[in-house]
Amino acid sequence: MPNQTPRNISATPILEPMFNRVAWIILVFSLLITFISVYASISYFEKLGNERISARANEILLGIENRMISYETVLRGGVGLFNSTTVDRKVFANYVASLNIEEKLPGIQGIGYSIPVKSMDLEQHVASIRAEGFPEYEIRPTSEREDYSAIIYLEPFDWRNKRAFGYDMWSNEMRRKAMTRAQDKGVAANSGIITLVQETDTDVQKGFLMYLPVYEGGVTPATLEERRNKFKGWVYSPFRAENLIKGIIESQNSDFGFELYDGSEVTESALLFDSNTLKELSDKAITPSFHRFESLSSQGREWTLYVHSTPKMFGNERTIVPLLVGILGTILSLLLFWVVYTLKNAQTRTRKLVTQLDIQNKHIENKNKDLSQFAYISSHDLQEPLRTVANCADALKQDYEDKIDDEGKFLLNTMLNSTARMSSLIHAILEYSLLGKQASTDEIVDCQKVMQAVKQDLSMLIEENNATLTWTDLPIILGNQSMITQLFTNLITNAIKYTQPGKSPIISISAVSKETHYEFHVQDNGIGIESKYKDRIFQIFKRLHHSSDYTGTGIGLASCKKIVEIHHGEIWVESEVGEGSTFKFTILNQGYE
Ligand code: ADP
Repeated sequence: MPNQTPRNISATPILEPMFNRVAWIILVFSLLITFISVYASISYFEKLGNERISARANEILLGIENRMISYETVLRGGVGLFNSTTVDRKVFANYVASLNIEEKLPGIQGIGYSIPVKSMDLEQHVASIRAEGFPEYEIRPTSEREDYSAIIYLEPFDWRNKRAFGYDMWSNEMRRKAMTRAQDKGVAANSGIITLVQETDTDVQKGFLMYLPVYEGGVTPATLEERRNKFKGWVYSPFRAENLIKGIIESQNSDFGFELYDGSEVTESALLFDSNTLKELSDKAITPSFHRFESLSSQGREWTLYVHSTPKMFGNERTIVPLLVGILGTILSLLLFWVVYTLKNAQTRTRKLVTQLDIQNKHIENKNKDLSQFAYISSHDLQEPLRTVANCADALKQDYEDKIDDEGKFLLNTMLNSTARMSSLIHAILEYSLLGKQASTDEIVDCQKVMQAVKQDLSMLIEENNATLTWTDLPIILGNQSMITQLFTNLITNAIKYTQPGKSPIISISAVSKETHYEFHVQDNGIGIESKYKDRIFQIFKRLHHSSDYTGTGIGLASCKKIVEIHHGEIWVESEVGEGSTFKFTILNQGYE
């Protein structure tokens, strides 16, 4: 066999691609997705925060508006009482008691009735109230004025409300403005921020009042003049702001804080209610992430609601989630980049290797062709002089045999034997070199029939050696008929040749179908082969015996190997010295059933 040393492939320099475009595109793309995801998660929290603030603002707004409407309705009930009956202290007290305001409408400080008093009627007024059992009664402040007003009823008449009994609300500008608006316009009117006269030194709260006018005749007169002339008094309620709002907003939610301002200005002096969170935040120098201003009209006065978030709303989630998305996205992008970059490089490298292997295969193929060509030409050309030598030696033997002495005869015979052997060797080389040349391997080969033909061809040899040759269910395969015939012939010939002295050769042939191949077994009861020679015997000219013991060229098994490889299979031997050998070979199952 020609010596084909493959070039050292791994030593071939492979240029690493400097710029792997696909990997970079993927990196840019995945980083872009990461960026969009971070942005989306920030936007998500932004949107969620704004939605929650908005929902909370609406909840508070609705709570306040609804409660203020309820209070107005209660006061309208009081107006209705005055319009429908003669009201005295007892009737008024019963009416207020029946409303059960402390339980049903917490936050309201009470319901009262105040009447205007002219300076000329002051004395008579004070006297009539004192006559009702209040000898201490007087209108406060006591300084002289043109017009007075006097709180004559205020229920529940508890210690706190008693502090307001007789108080002239008209004397205070903030109250007077609301009283005037209620009287002149015939509507419910709230005052601005005041400190109720009910307040003591402790737990002082900001407050405001709601007034509703009562007119003679029970209906609101159409003109301003009539409204002033027919005006009787004010049904009103004082409110302590903190109690009121806390009563309305029952559910405390630490995610939010809110402040309520009287008017549209957000100033300290206009602050009606503070949930205390704003101060807490400003102490810690925290600016609320989400906030919202809402204005509402409260019985003629504009109020401003400021709702804001506290750090408890999202905790750290708002920062951590986008950060995590960013970090994880970047890591994943880099990983993806690395994988694609590596894969792409590996792919390029493999492609280069495949190309190199192709080139090398072509190279080897050409070399093999050259060698076969050389073997063919040289063996063909050698036949001619060899035949001449053999003919000369033969003629010498025929014509001069009686003139040559014994030593000369011996030399002549040796020469004739050697030329015969050399001729058969050259013939074997020729056959080996021609093996597989442009042979098709997709003929339908019925191995049963092949065996019948082989048995027929070898009948003389079988008979001479008293050999037994059997086979079982051999398949029909796709291959080269003449090569398969040669394969079986070589193996059977060897099996008969390498038999144990005094033993008749028994040869059995079988086949099994494997996943992709057929596996054939050629078993004999011959001399066997030492395991150290199991590979060597398939090499060309490798023999284990001298030709004086067993004749042969050392090409038979090499040819078998070549035939099997042409059929995409393998050949090997399993053997025990003195027990026999089983030659096994595979042939690719090309799909013929
Ligand atoms: P040869 O022409 O010598 O038979 P082969 O290539 O056919 O050449 O065989 C190589 C060697 O393998 C043989 O010389 C023989 O020693 C050994 N061999 C082949 N077949 C058998 C067998 N069936 N039993 C024992 N030895 C075998």
